Amino acid sequence: MNIAIDGPAGAGKSTIAKLVAKELGFIYVDTGAMYRSIALYLINNQIDISDVNLVSECISPISIEIKYENDIQQIYLNGDNVTSRLREESVGNMASKSSALPCVRAKLLDLQRQLANDYNVVMDGRDIGTNILPNAELKIYLTASSKVRANRRYDELVLKGDNPDIDKIEQDIITRDKQDMEREIAPLKQAEDAVFIDSSDMSIDEVVKVIINYARRR
Ligand code: C5P
Repeated sequence: MNIAIDGPAGAGKSTIAKLVAKELGFIYVDTGAMYRSIALYLINNQIDISDVNLVSECISPISIEIKYENDIQQIYLNGDNVTSRLREESVGNMASKSSALPCVRAKLLDLQRQLANDYNVVMDGRDIGTNILPNAELKIYLTASSKVRANRRYDELVLKGDNPDIDKIEQDIITRDKQDMEREIAPLKQAEDAVFIDSSDMSIDEVVKVIINYARRR
């Protein structure tokens, strides 16, 4: 059984998908981290992403591997574990731009489908229900208002000891939503058969319960 969870940045997809996967004994697949690992590669190598041919050439030989250590997804880029660097804002912003390139999406498509074929997965991303796993047994579209999402991200960064600017966080979220929803290839949108959940006024536990209930009914 496969569960697809799509939605905009900061909607809580990864936190919720992890808990749902744990409860059901499924593997959690964070596809955003895969896009982020390619973004990190592009940043590290100062590759100009407006040159599509160059990006295509540069990423074709790179290896991206997913491993699970204590049930936590680890991403290896050319053999190096890059997981700890993937959540940086600059990497997320670059991922939102580079994920619009067909060569980047093509590179990750097979890897994502293979994982879903080999395991029961809860996979989160932007196009899982619409494009990667159109036959997933359960599809969720998880969202929240941009204010709520910015506040959650703000709290997360403060906990890490940062001193973030809330308006800048919300602006980044709005920009990323626009990029993800308006791109030509695999834009973020709700699959017709997805369950819509707005988590603005819901706790994490409430959202997890709703999803588990749907999963048990399938
Ligand atoms: O979910 P996360 O914020 O980690 O994703 C980073 C970026 O990767 C997103 O802004 C989006 O542009 C891209 N992405 C995507 N398709 C996915 C997952 C992520 O385009 N399935």
